[in-house]
Order: sequence, then C-alpha cells, then structure tokens
Amino acid sequence: MPTDTRPAARRIFGAPLRYIQGPGALSETGPTAAAIGSRALLIADAFVLDLLEEAVTASCRQAGTQVTPLRFAGEITPAEIERLVGAAHGLQADVVIAAGGGKGIDAGKAVAHRLRVPVITVPTIASNDAPTSKIYVVYDEQHRLLKVEHMPCNPHAVIVDTALIARAPRKLLLAGIGDAISKKFEVEQCHAAQGPNMFAGLGTRAALALADLCFETLLAHTDGALAALERQSPADSLEAIVEANVLLSGLCFENGGLSVAHSMTRGLSALPGTAHELHGLQVAYGTMVQWHLEDRPPAFMEEMRAFYRRIGLPLNLQQLGLPRTPTDVDIDTLATLTLTAPHVRNFNRVLTAHDLSQAISALEAATL
Ligand SMILES: [Zn+2]
Repeated sequence: MPTDTRPAARRIFGAPLRYIQGPGALSETGPTAAAIGSRALLIADAFVLDLLEEAVTASCRQAGTQVTPLRFAGEITPAEIERLVGAAHGLQADVVIAAGGGKGIDAGKAVAHRLRVPVITVPTIASNDAPTSKIYVVYDEQHRLLKVEHMPCNPHAVIVDTALIARAPRKLLLAGIGDAISKKFEVEQCHAAQGPNMFAGLGTRAALALADLCFETLLAHTDGALAALERQSPADSLEAIVEANVLLSGLCFENGGLSVAHSMTRGLSALPGTAHELHGLQVAYGTMVQWHLEDRPPAFMEEMRAFYRRIGLPLNLQQLGLPRTPTDVDIDTLATLTLTAPHVRNFNRVLTAHDLSQAISALEAATL
C-alpha cells in the first residue's frame, strides 16, 4: 500500500474536447464558439489582435456569435487578471477565445476560469505546450512565478492555423521542439517512479504511447518543418511538428507527468542570460542533463548532440545565454534550485545536488 494520501492506482487522462489544425483553421473559430454561445470575448495582446481580430470576428459573426476584443497588457499578474475580468463585467460572455503565444493564452484561461466559461485557445506560434492544457501560470509584478492555477477542465477547443505559424520566427518553433523533445523521457521517468500527472493521477498507457510518438515525430520531421518555415509556407512536415509541439507535447506533460528536464527550468531561471531564454530552449538543455543522469549510451548522446547542433538547440549553458564559462557557483546554484522543483522526484532514483552538479559539469565538458 502507498504511504501517502494519494489514491492508489487511479489512472487519469484529460484532453481538450476538440483539436483543429491546418492552414486557414482560424475560420473554424466562429462555428466552434457558436456551438457554445452567442457572446464571446477575444483576449490577446495588441500584436495578436492586429494579426487575427478581423478574421476571428468575421468567422464568429457569420456563425452568429458576437465578439468583444479585450486587449491583454502582456504580463499575467493578479492585477491584470482583475482588470480583464472587470472589463468583461456586464458582457455576459459565454466563451473566451484566448489567442497568442504562451502568455496571451494563459491570460484568456485565467479570465475564463474566473468567469466560469469554456475557453477556446488559438496559438499563433508553436513554441510551447500550453494551448491544450488546463494549467496557467500567474506572475508577480517582478515577473517571478507566483502560482500555477488549474482550470476545472481542459480547453473546449484548440484551433491552430498553420498559415499563421508558418510565418513565425524560427526560434519560436525551435523552442516548441525543445519543449517537446523532453516529453518521452520525462513521461517514462514519471511512469517508472509512479509519480503523479497533472490530474494528480497515474499516467496511462496512452500517455506513454503519445510520448513515443512525439519523439519519433520530432526526429523524422524537424528538418522538413524548418525548411518549410524558411519558405514561410505550410507543408506536411510542418503540420507534423506543429502537432508534436502543441498537441502531443501538451497531452504528454499533462497526462504523463514531468521529471528532471522541466525541473531544470527552476535553476535556469536564476542564472544571468539563461533566465530570460525561452522556456522550450531551457527545457532542451534540461533534457540533455536528464540524459546524462540516465547514463544514456554514448551513441545515443552523440546522435542527440548532432541533432541539437544541426537545428540550433542549446548544448551548453553559454549557448543558452550564460555570458561566461559556468563557474562552480553557477553549477551549484543550478543544481540546488532544480532540486526544489517537485517534478524532480519523478525519477528512477533519489537525486542529490551532487548528482545534478556532476551531470551538468559532464555535459558542459562534453560540448566545449
Ligand atoms: Zn514545458
């Protein structure tokens, strides 16, 4: 019998009700919103409103839903959430359409959560795994992580227009690949450790299978997707990578749980230079550290290093933005803070700061 209070052996799987992806998919926003109600809020920052307000409004009008745009100021703080909820007062919205990168989507989730209405997410970049998930992150005024909130359900729908994503900067797609590449390994570790997923349940066989598919997809289609991005035109390989970055990556972390790679973002967020690097690039580096801790065979490590090098994922702290050769203090800080993340317990053995420092030092030495 387990010694903690978590219900034993309860497997839980959660997902959005609908996932729609393809060039021009934005036109699905209206019919999807109209199936919920006749009044929608569109929450996005000024840049994203410029990009899609007209198309979303037209699609909703045609379907019989009226859209009120609310401009998100850019940082998800309790005060900004209050301001948006206040602006929504009296509008009797039936649904929130949350559009943008990670933050715009999280702002829309926060408002939908407060208003107790469903949310439709519309990611305009494929840089992270947030759009399918029920989780959003709130920061304080100094941009420090304040809390991770959970909506009662996943988004009602996720609408991914790949014609928009094909025009996004390469670095953002790379970050999405970095966020996704860890999943197979984090899900496997969490599963082996019987760790909880984001529904406080055990992972399913489905989560493990999706994690395998996510990794295979990245290896098979990344080169083609980056070439398509260069041409700024949709292609099958880009569709495959967007699905891996948004759908598979999101389903994997939420249903399979996380481990060392994501725990590393705690430490990386405290070092100069690496602190402000994109989440997915931090995770890509964290995955390398996890592989070291797992004692992966040299041939696997060499293959992964070659993959990272070819596409431009960070292989060491300096490539991730640290403005100096890492000192012992840098490595200690990184190891100690990483160990404060709860997901770090989802590993096949209990890790110490020494284990982490050694893995980081070995990684840094291997990629000089
Ligand atoms: Zn992530």
